[in-house]
Amino acid sequence: MRIFDSHCHLDDRSYDRDRKEVLDRAARAGVVKVMIVGTDKDSSRKAVRLTESHAGCHASVGIHPHDAKDCTENVLESLRNLTTSAGVYAWGETGLDFNRMYSPQIDQEKWFIRQLEIGQQLGLPFIFHERDSNGRFFEILSTRSRPGLRGVIHCFSGSRQELERYLEFDLYIGITGILTLKERGAALRELAISIPSARILVETDAPYLTPAPEKNRTRRNEPAFVRSVLLNLAEIRGEDPEDLAEIVWANTCRLYGIDA
Ligand SMILES: [Zn+2]
Ligand SMILES: [Zn+2]
Repeated sequence: MRIFDSHCHLDDRSYDRDRKEVLDRAARAGVVKVMIVGTDKDSSRKAVRLTESHAGCHASVGIHPHDAKDCTENVLESLRNLTTSAGVYAWGETGLDFNRMYSPQIDQEKWFIRQLEIGQQLGLPFIFHERDSNGRFFEILSTRSRPGLRGVIHCFSGSRQELERYLEFDLYIGITGILTLKERGAALRELAISIPSARILVETDAPYLTPAPEKNRTRRNEPAFVRSVLLNLAEIRGEDPEDLAEIVWANTCRLYGIDA
């Protein structure tokens, strides 16, 4: 079984001491490719650097909505320069998060729109982060996206109506370890059945969102644990895990433009 962790933050400081072991454990679990997702200038740079020294690692560059307040045109220019590196396959995470409002709405929207423009100019797929944006995400995407836009809604946790709208935009849907959590995952488990298989990705969002059963043993999430997400997903959907793994692998490579 080969699995692609479509979204993790392996640049995080919590891996500085054992990153190599973390990637070895991932490989032993069949997780042979990972996407390391940038959230600001420094993490994007570090993600790109990691692709140069670690096999199976790919990177994206972007400014997370939480960090929008610190974004400038200069920052975006340096990210644009980073995309010439061989290891960069996507733009993100970018989007809107009105749940915690770490950045004012006006900044979030301004820099989301700019990143949509730049990513599309570069022809890169997007890694979208959306939470509680009350329809603004869809309004911006409707007016600012060009035909052929590729992207994933990472860590999907929305309603059925939102799921349907994402699918209308032909977006992929990223499923995290929330799926495996007894109470927090109940709504997601119901919706996960109705996602077309050609649109599903799995992800850890590590070091966050540790799935069950690993959650009981360790607090820090890591790419190897995406296997639990995949097995759980197969069980919920009544599908063969090997078959689902192959489909999800192909989906992830198709989205990111990586040779399967
Ligand atoms: Zn996110
Ligand atoms: Zn993330």
